[in-house]
Amino acid sequence: MAVKVVKRHTPTFWEKIYIPQILCGLKITSIHFFRNLFLHTAHLFGLMKDRSAAATIQYPEEQRPLMSRYRSRHRLTQRDDGTPRCVGCMLCETVCPAKCITIVPDEHPDPHVEKYPIRFDIDLGVCVYCGYCVEVCPEDAIRMDTGILDLAAYSREAMQLDIHELMNPELRKPIGDCDLDFPHTCEIHDGEMKGDWESVGVSTHEH
Ligand code: SF4
Ligand code: SF4
Repeated sequence: MAVKVVKRHTPTFWEKIYIPQILCGLKITSIHFFRNLFLHTAHLFGLMKDRSAAATIQYPEEQRPLMSRYRSRHRLTQRDDGTPRCVGCMLCETVCPAKCITIVPDEHPDPHVEKYPIRFDIDLGVCVYCGYCVEVCPEDAIRMDTGILDLAAYSREAMQLDIHELMNPELRKPIGDCDLDFPHTCEIHDGEMKGDWESVGVSTHEH
């Protein structure tokens, strides 16, 4: 078998001392800096609007528009009467590769609907955002389209979304130490889902 000999590149004196490469890098950075400074200043005076300058997104106050298929925090969709579309079939819990969904189904008061979840938890500290739960659902009952990305919390308990938070994406338990007892369950009373958050006096905040 023929052997091909590849000669190693021997660095020159100027390559060994790095100074030309450092100056070359500084030149590129300076060109971009002064170009953006010039364009942003021109834009302030209404000039050269057709030429865009590099923009910095001031996250979290400012957020990039998300792609429509972006997978963000989960939510449970609702029927017209405000009860969950979920029929407690357990497909999502079964398919979830991270085993982070816990569902407890119960008989639905409406005889036309077989079951509904009285408990539905997703542990965001374990979820890998694969979206399988959304894909597998036969009822379009779970989606990942809330656009909510800031999911940080200071305790493992606060990372668990329960049925209250899944039914109402505006709702979020405090991100600090969470002293709620898990699991929470909800039941339908007078056509409304009611649970025990209110009874423990939890103050909630929006993202
Ligand atoms: S996105 Fe994936 S890992 Fe997260 S709850 Fe759904 S199935 Fe489980
Ligand atoms: S969310 Fe969908 S897949 Fe999961 S239990 Fe409910 S109906 Fe079944």
